[in-house]
Amino acid sequence: MTLRLYDARRGGLFPFEPIGGRDRVGLYVCGVTPYDTGHLGHAFTYVGFDVLHRYLEYLGHDVRYVQNLTDVDDDMLRKARETGEDYLALGNRWVTTFLDEMAALNWLPPDHYPRATQHIPQMLSLIEKLVANGLAYAAEGNVYFSISADPRYGELSKLPRDEMLPLANERGNVPDMPGKRDPLDFVLWQRSLADEPSWESPWGPGRPGWHIECSAMSMAYLGTQFEIHGGGADLLFPHHESERAQSEGATGDRPFVGWWTHAGMLGYDGDKMSKSLGNLVLVNDLLRTYSGDAIRHYLVSQHYRAEVHFSDGDLDESADATARLSQARVRADELASADVAFDEDGDLPEIVREHRERFLAAMDDDLDTPRAISELEALATLALDSDDAALAAQAGGMMLELGGRILGLRLASVPAAQGVGAA
Ligand SMILES: [Zn+2]
Repeated sequence: MTLRLYDARRGGLFPFEPIGGRDRVGLYVCGVTPYDTGHLGHAFTYVGFDVLHRYLEYLGHDVRYVQNLTDVDDDMLRKARETGEDYLALGNRWVTTFLDEMAALNWLPPDHYPRATQHIPQMLSLIEKLVANGLAYAAEGNVYFSISADPRYGELSKLPRDEMLPLANERGNVPDMPGKRDPLDFVLWQRSLADEPSWESPWGPGRPGWHIECSAMSMAYLGTQFEIHGGGADLLFPHHESERAQSEGATGDRPFVGWWTHAGMLGYDGDKMSKSLGNLVLVNDLLRTYSGDAIRHYLVSQHYRAEVHFSDGDLDESADATARLSQARVRADELASADVAFDEDGDLPEIVREHRERFLAAMDDDLDTPRAISELEALATLALDSDDAALAAQAGGMMLELGGRILGLRLASVPAAQGVGAA
């Protein structure tokens, strides 16, 4: 069995293997811009990549997981201006909230959590290389990447040129910035406004563009080529398209990333979830009613690349399902004795082996967690209903092993009588 994972650049599923056959796997996921509270869409993205992280480790890879903090960009500075708070203090406050929420969802923290403001020299060095390589130009204190100098611009998103500009403008591009040769040329470095932070540069004091931040931070920890780059689907263009172009343009090493992977967008009651529509489903609010396990169960019941339509009540089903899985764990724990103790490598009943094989086959198929969960549920049924104590103990042990290690469910052994919603 081999894990096959979707890569947006090549446009399909490809067997996963580390670059150059090395042991280490680099995983970089674009992190939050910490200026507001986290919503369920963020949690869907980060839980999705957490499952990938866990599964790669289960397969024996040594994963180095890096997730950045975009602590200086237009959104951060706008919010700091609105609230009158220092942008770094604002960022620290929301980072703490984000980490608390993700801890409640049993997220394995990254090995490195770089902040953009601490990697300005690496960004400047990349920009200087791009200018030297003829891929970027300075104008009026700003530096732009020239997309016409990169014939591959567009290979990641596959967008035709006429669809690029409106989408880029929607996502932070300012088409008429001074000195731009093409409205789609993106900012690598920009002059700071009077009330914005600024750093010295060869082009005058200023601050980095959004895209160059992730190129600099990923390369700082993972090198000029690494295996997996993730983020929400709304980052595919222009953020990741531009990251790929400038990274390969600066270093000459190609491909910058082996697998570009994107989590689907999560909507609420048929609408896009957005601040402007006022319909954000906040993780903190959900945690008042539901356990982290119930929320996580709901999120991993969706395929990570799927468009998800969340409705009130969906979490009740997941709360019931996690309660049942936890009850199965309790029964298995009660039944387990020295002679039937769970041993994954031991002499497992055939039916337990089959469920494990189907679970792993689903995971190998681009992390098909909805299918994998149905195998967990079958194991839980065996643990709860089987009259064969040894079989029930082994099924429950396997459920906990796969559901816990790979899907990240805690499945706490609460007494069965507490029932629904308590797990
Ligand atoms: Zn990024």
